[in-house]
Amino acid sequence: MLYIIVPCYNEQEVLPMMHEQLLTLLQHLIEASAASQESRVLYVDDGSTDTTWALISDLARDERVCGIKLSCNAGHQNALLAGLETAVEHADVLVTIDADGQDDAQVIPQMLERYRAGCDIVYGVRHERKSDTWFKRTSAQAFYRTMRWLGVKNVYNHADYRLMSRRAANALLDYRERNLFLRGVVSLVGFKSDCVYYDRGTRLAGKSKFPLRKMMSFAVDGITSFSIRPVRMVLTLGIVFLFIALAMLVYVLVAYFTGRAVSGWASMILSLWFIGGCVLIGLGVVGEYIGKIYIEVKDRPRYHLEQCIMHNAQCTIKPCSNQSSCIADSTEQN
Ligand code: UDP
Ligand code: MG
Repeated sequence: MLYIIVPCYNEQEVLPMMHEQLLTLLQHLIEASAASQESRVLYVDDGSTDTTWALISDLARDERVCGIKLSCNAGHQNALLAGLETAVEHADVLVTIDADGQDDAQVIPQMLERYRAGCDIVYGVRHERKSDTWFKRTSAQAFYRTMRWLGVKNVYNHADYRLMSRRAANALLDYRERNLFLRGVVSLVGFKSDCVYYDRGTRLAGKSKFPLRKMMSFAVDGITSFSIRPVRMVLTLGIVFLFIALAMLVYVLVAYFTGRAVSGWASMILSLWFIGGCVLIGLGVVGEYIGKIYIEVKDRPRYHLEQCIMHNAQCTIKPCSNQSSCIADSTEQN
C-alpha cells in the first residue's frame, strides 16, 4: 500500500497539473500490481491562504485521494511530518514529493523497485540543477558542502523527495525534535538505503514558497540542529585571539623599553572593531543554540490538524507527543 504525500502551500496554480501526473502514475502502478488498490495520494494543506484546500477537497471526491489541512502555516518540514504521521498508520510505503512538479514523479516506480529489493529508504537525488537559478544552485551546493564539512551526514543534492518503508517512517517519527530538519534526521535513521537520480525540472506554475529569508533560516536551522562545531569554532577563535593578545603584549613591552613609543590610533581603532565584531558573532552563535534549547524545552506541538479527508481509513489524528493540547478541533469527513 503506497501513500504519496504532497505538502502544498498556496499551490492553486500548480495543483491540478501535479494531480493529473500523480493520479495517472498511481493508476499505472495499481494496474501493474506494483501498488495495492488502497494506495493513495495524500495532500497536506499547510495553512494555505488561497483556494488550495477547496481544490484538495474537490480532488478528494476521488477515493484514491485524501487530504489533511493544518490549522496554520507550520512550514514545509512540519507539513511533511503531518503527512507522514497520518499515512504511516495505513501505508506500507510512503513517498514524499513537492507539489510544484520540480521533482520527477516518474522515478517513483524505480523507487518502488529498490524498496522491493530490500531498501527501507530511497533518496531522490538531483542529477544536475540546470533549471535552478545560478544563485539557488550555488547557495544550495555551498550549503551541502558546509554541512558535510561540519560533520553532518546528508545525501548531496537530495531534498525531501524520498521513499520510506513503514518501519523507516516510524523510526523517523520517533525523533521528537521541534527544530526539524528532516533530511538530516533521515540519515540518522539507518536501514538499508539507495538513491535514484532524476533531473530537477522547473516549477510547473506558481512562485517558489522559499524566498531568500526562509532559505537562510532553513540553512541555519539545518546546521545548528545537527552540529555544535560552530560553537567550538568560536572557542578556538577565542583562544587564537588570546595568543595574539599575548604576542601584542610582548611587542608593546619591547617597544616601550626600547623607546619606540607607539602612536598608532589607526591600528587601535581597527582592532577594537575587529574584536568587537568577533565577540558579537560568538555571542550570536551561542545565542542561536540557546534559542534552540528554549524551543525544544517548551515542547510545543509541531502542528495542529484542522480537517482530514480519508477514504475507508480511519483518520487517526496524532499530531504531536503532547496530544491533549493539539487535537481539539479536528474533524473527520467521509
Ligand atoms: N511548502 C509548504 N509550506 C511552506 C512552504 C512550502 O508546504 O511553508 C511546500 C510547497 O507547497 C512545495 C514544497 O513545500 O510543495 C517546496 O516548496 P517550493 O517548491 O516553493 O520550494 P523551492 O523548490 O523553491 O525550494
Ligand atoms: Mg520547488
